[in-house]
Amino acid sequence: MKLHDLTVHTAHQLLKDRKISSLELTKGILEHIARVEGRLHAFVTVTGEEAMQQAKRADKRIKDGDASPLTGVPALIKDNMCTRGVTTTCSSKMLENFVPPYDATVVEKLKAAGMVMVGKGNMDEFAMGSSTEHSAFCPTCNPWDQGRVPGGSSGGSAVSVAAGEAIYALGSDTGGSIRQPAGFCNVVGLKPTYGRVSRYGLVAFASSLDQIGPLTRDVTDSALVMNVIAGHDPKDSTSLNYAVPDYTQALKSDLKGLKLGIPREYFVEGMQQGVNDAIRDAIAKLEELGATIDWEASLPSTKYALAAYYIIAPSEAMANLARYDGVKYGFSYEGKNIWDAMEKTRGHGFGSEVKRRIILGTYALSAGYYDAYYLKAQKVRTLIRREFEQAFQRYDALITPTSPTVPFKIGEKVDDPLQMYLSDVCTLPINIAGIPGLSVPAGFVDGLPVGMQILGKPFSEEVLLRIGYAYEQATEWHKKRPDLQRS
Ligand code: GLN
Repeated sequence: MKLHDLTVHTAHQLLKDRKISSLELTKGILEHIARVEGRLHAFVTVTGEEAMQQAKRADKRIKDGDASPLTGVPALIKDNMCTRGVTTTCSSKMLENFVPPYDATVVEKLKAAGMVMVGKGNMDEFAMGSSTEHSAFCPTCNPWDQGRVPGGSSGGSAVSVAAGEAIYALGSDTGGSIRQPAGFCNVVGLKPTYGRVSRYGLVAFASSLDQIGPLTRDVTDSALVMNVIAGHDPKDSTSLNYAVPDYTQALKSDLKGLKLGIPREYFVEGMQQGVNDAIRDAIAKLEELGATIDWEASLPSTKYALAAYYIIAPSEAMANLARYDGVKYGFSYEGKNIWDAMEKTRGHGFGSEVKRRIILGTYALSAGYYDAYYLKAQKVRTLIRREFEQAFQRYDALITPTSPTVPFKIGEKVDDPLQMYLSDVCTLPINIAGIPGLSVPAGFVDGLPVGMQILGKPFSEEVLLRIGYAYEQATEWHKKRPDLQRS
């Protein structure tokens, strides 16, 4: 058995049949991490000792016949979700030494299900970025080509799963940060409906857009993780009290009776030909599986989504990041007086992309500009949401590429923020509308992965998982693993 090929459900079967213990599995994964981490940098922290303790407890649960599908299975948590007693850095200097006194609700739920947490995942600082190059510590490398980015901001989460350093991971997605790295690393990434998963204990970036979701090796695993993390949480007033189905029940091998729309605006100018071809092939496959395809779907306001996002997200970010003043917690710099100390704390504690967002957000919200920018962006948001609502009266789901390109080279876009922002054109309208989106492996261009994005109306995760599953059953992309011997 190769650790690389295990999924949550195959690992669960082996654990339940006592073919392997969680302790053996966890040791194997930790050894693998030690071998490859020097090249990949997917982790901010490896929690080896805690993982071994959790594995021992999991083995006891399995022995007692009290195992859930996640019990004893090694996982990675993005480093912007609070973990009691384990640093939660957001890959920032500001929170480099921050040790939360509590667990995020998702972490609490996974622990109750018997998670073995092998570590915390590298990310763009405060989740702002699309390449994980904005980590204050070091960039994460794409396992398919270590000279390229893994996407971001949940780059560490995607890489850990793609490279066999964890069997599943949690990421967060404000404008694409689960789906885009999933697409870039050939794994499955789900951004649930806004309000489906509790954000309590997720360090806030843009609160009306942020959502936590799973990164996994296949769609079944995505369903299994959702079964645990979804649901109402009284500690998050934006989480919805809506029944949680058993997501695995939705997994069927055909798509008969489903009507899928292909919104032409997502086949954007500048899209790589290879990506275009791969997505068209994937859509042909969905048709073979029984779906009806309409190539004429249209969401005309898509072209305004990027501009609206880069007003709304920085505006919320600047308010959320006001708390890092060097007084309450986190990095603190000595100054002549309180104002001087605050200025120095924020000046030295934040990286350049975070500062850019704070400046943008402060500008957009300032008196005199508020109506022209923020209010206008909110109106565009309503338009975008309505167009999706109308589309979902005609279609069960929409199919698009996850990104217009394959993973780009490290350093290629880091000094050109606009180019970097453009890598999320296909993902951020989804956060603006609050709907769910799933990215599944859909092919390769010159050895680099391509992701297909599946979109649905609020709370239609089951439909997305069904489509992803049927596609996965008919293809082999998700089974491909990067060759880590190659540099
Ligand atoms: N890349 C987008 C940004 O930089 C989205 C990030 C995210 O989803 N956290 O804001």
